[in-house]
Amino acid sequence: MDSDALVIGAGPSGLLAAKTIASRGFSVRILEEHAKVGVPSHCAGLISVEGLKRIGVEASGSFVQNTITGGRIYSPDGQYVEIKDRRPRAHVIDRTALDQRLAELAVDVGAELTTGVRAERLTLSDGCVTGASGAGWVEEARLVIDAEGPSRRLAREAGVINNGRAPLLGVNTEIGCDVDADIVEVWFGEETAPGFFAWVIPTSGNQARVGLATKSGDPTKFLAGFVKKRFGDTKYLPPRAGQVLVEGPVNKSSFPGLLLVGDAAGHVKPTTGGGVVLGGLCAIEAGKTAVKALETGDTSTKTLGEYDEAWRRLYGSEFRSMQTLRSLADRVSDARMNRFFRVFRDAGLGDRVNELVAEGDMDLQEGVIRRALSEPGIMKAAIGGLGRLALAELRGLVNL
Ligand SMILES: Cc1cc2nc3c(=O)[nH]c(=O)nc-3n(C[C@H](O)[C@H](O)[C@H](O)COP(=O)(O)OP(=O)(O)OC[C@H]3O[C@@H](n4cnc5c(N)ncnc54)[C@H](O)[C@@H]3O)c2cc1C
Repeated sequence: MDSDALVIGAGPSGLLAAKTIASRGFSVRILEEHAKVGVPSHCAGLISVEGLKRIGVEASGSFVQNTITGGRIYSPDGQYVEIKDRRPRAHVIDRTALDQRLAELAVDVGAELTTGVRAERLTLSDGCVTGASGAGWVEEARLVIDAEGPSRRLAREAGVINNGRAPLLGVNTEIGCDVDADIVEVWFGEETAPGFFAWVIPTSGNQARVGLATKSGDPTKFLAGFVKKRFGDTKYLPPRAGQVLVEGPVNKSSFPGLLLVGDAAGHVKPTTGGGVVLGGLCAIEAGKTAVKALETGDTSTKTLGEYDEAWRRLYGSEFRSMQTLRSLADRVSDARMNRFFRVFRDAGLGDRVNELVAEGDMDLQEGVIRRALSEPGIMKAAIGGLGRLALAELRGLVNL
């Protein structure tokens, strides 16, 4: 046996799972296909202040570039709602530097990281995953953590997951521009970003990460259109593309000898496509279950299945609420969205929403969804925008 645990992929989820297992004295090997951890990065790098703490990482100038206190949300016809908090709510981070910090933390507790090695397939014996192999090598481990990210190629080829809903394609670039340094912008509209939204995330008062994701069409063309609309004729760096998952968790993320974590398990917020914190939190649960399996010598689903139970117990209803909100958002036309913003503004709901958001949680969004749906004023605006039936569906799901 080459190691107790073999982790495939040195993204945040793989590294947090690796750190959790290695910190309990088990041997952990992490394989990363790229030459450098965190390179290339396509991530917009917005992570809640609370979320970073929850995954056990101290904010540091080595990766935190800016801090955000609020957001401006634009309707398709250009109306906007501004949400502002007194407290810092989110960090804008350099994802490459964050991933490298997470790698340091995993290596510090004994994990062994090898870069430039691509796992080509998971190896199986009698239906149990026993390791992985690649060009001219085979690694055996008592259990494998598949943290390969959104492609899920290894998991699909091993037959442990089927094709889910197609991911969105996201693109992200950096632009020199004049922006409010502490405000994130979110832009909706079928002409801007069909099926999702565009974002402007300031890294400072004169530089922003600008991107979007779409369910159809060429996102780079939509990005060019959005940049022109928002910033005029401005030059920008060639955008980087990546898959944005919004369909929610896979049905099953534990198999004999194998756990899926992070994007590979669909542990991404269906509302925003953000996966660093929620994916990381679930990956830490995977690490704890792996420790139990290694301690007891039982890597069957009897023990590894406790990982599925743990993330469902802790975050299952969060995922479900966010999935419902996503599926409603997918069905709201631009005209309805514009109407929603109008009713909302005319009813003067901004202050109340600010209070709700100030109390709310960027990562665990169920609480704020429930509270918003209990507010008569917000309900009235939402009925104008979403229609009664859609709203009843949402309320039913969060058991109001
Ligand atoms: C455009 C865009 C913007 C985003 N913005 C945000 C944001 O602002 N905030 C946020 O929280 N989330 C954001 N996300 C989502 C976030 O990037 C992911 O949820 C997160 O990276 C998932 O972490 P992970 O460790 O599961 O996978 P990844 O970060 O994808 O890491 C997987 C790693 O595995 C490696 N790998 C893959 N296959 C193999 C193999 N066969 N062998 C060896 N190594 C392999 C890859 O090289 C990679 O390093 C964004 C995504 C996109 C596409």
